[in-house]
Amino acid sequence: MQAIEQIAAKVREGGRVGRDQALALYLQAPTTLLGRLADGIRARRHPERVVTYIIDRNVNYTNVCVARCNFCAFYRPVGSPEGYVLGFDEIFRKIDETIELGGGQLLLQGGHNPDLPLEWYEDLFRAVKARYPAFRLHALSPPEVIHLTRMSRLGIAEVIERLRAAGLDSIPGGGAEILVDRVRRILNCYNKATAGEWLEVMRHAHRAGLRTTATMMYGHVETPEERLEHLLRLRGLQDETGGFTAFISWSYQPEHTELGGFEATGVEYLRTLAIARIVLDNLQASWVTQGGKVGQLSLAYGANDMGSVMIEENVVRAAGASYCMDEIEIVRNVENAGFVPKRRNMHYEILGDPIFREREVPRMLELAVARHEGDASRPAELVNYPARSAAEKRLRRSELPDG
Ligand code: SF4
Repeated sequence: MQAIEQIAAKVREGGRVGRDQALALYLQAPTTLLGRLADGIRARRHPERVVTYIIDRNVNYTNVCVARCNFCAFYRPVGSPEGYVLGFDEIFRKIDETIELGGGQLLLQGGHNPDLPLEWYEDLFRAVKARYPAFRLHALSPPEVIHLTRMSRLGIAEVIERLRAAGLDSIPGGGAEILVDRVRRILNCYNKATAGEWLEVMRHAHRAGLRTTATMMYGHVETPEERLEHLLRLRGLQDETGGFTAFISWSYQPEHTELGGFEATGVEYLRTLAIARIVLDNLQASWVTQGGKVGQLSLAYGANDMGSVMIEENVVRAAGASYCMDEIEIVRNVENAGFVPKRRNMHYEILGDPIFREREVPRMLELAVARHEGDASRPAELVNYPARSAAEKRLRRSELPDG
């Protein structure tokens, strides 16, 4: 315990912990001590006791994916009758609903669909910006960018530049899982993007002036050492570029997945949250929580952000978990924990007080879905783009006016 106390004293003084010190804390420090250390950092950095959140909408433009990560319950293989691609009009409708609820951004991510070329993304982004010039597109995690480089045979920098020119505002940190290739091979996500590729996309994005978030999905096959390796790699890139705005972590949701297993417990969640706050000393700290009650507790373990007012969610729901927290519910949890809730944008700039205190907004007591069950409609604009898979080629040919 002597050594733990010495490391704790270093953290209290604002010192940076190294790999071995972080591991010792993570494995040996009592949970309450980890919490106090993380809360101390939160209090030093955010003494005003403000806790932020964003109103945005998590939209998954397609569930068709060739990557087949074995922890994913969301994707459908090419040709599946349950596969979908959202039409531009459907996405516009989702934006209208988001604006009505006070939101100004879409978090837009999807499967690696071989039948959506780079031009489809560019056209979508341009169409969104033409209709909603001030609306922000926080879109396409690094593995999606890698997928587009392979489809288009262009380099990372060029793909990012084309997407940015079309309207991309920032890049979400999804698809990081654990940034260690041993883990990625077991999860069958090494091929979608290696740890190095994920970091390289972020490096290019930061150099191009885009801000991004960083994430971690833990609690599957990784060791504590590998969790720390992940955090240290993020810290290293942040030292280099300063381009991450926040770190968001969540635990693996096992239901309906090929990998199976168990979900991390609440204590594991809080310990991981706290060690991330301690290790990531160069990163604005923000965590998506797992429901209101753990969310409230996380505010005592280093978190200063409640993530997003969930309007729509499809990925975690497919794995058996679904938390619906509208703005009223988030604000109730934040205030009850003794903090001041403020709305923010993706850059973590404060936008104001809760919107429902300024004007009437509809309550969201149920999460929206990408597509209603049984809706097998196909967007009319798909015929304008070349398909790669045989199944989709046939379909598009039959949809042509003379098909
Ligand atoms: S996690 Fe993403 S890339 Fe992996 S199978 Fe699911 S949708 Fe595809």
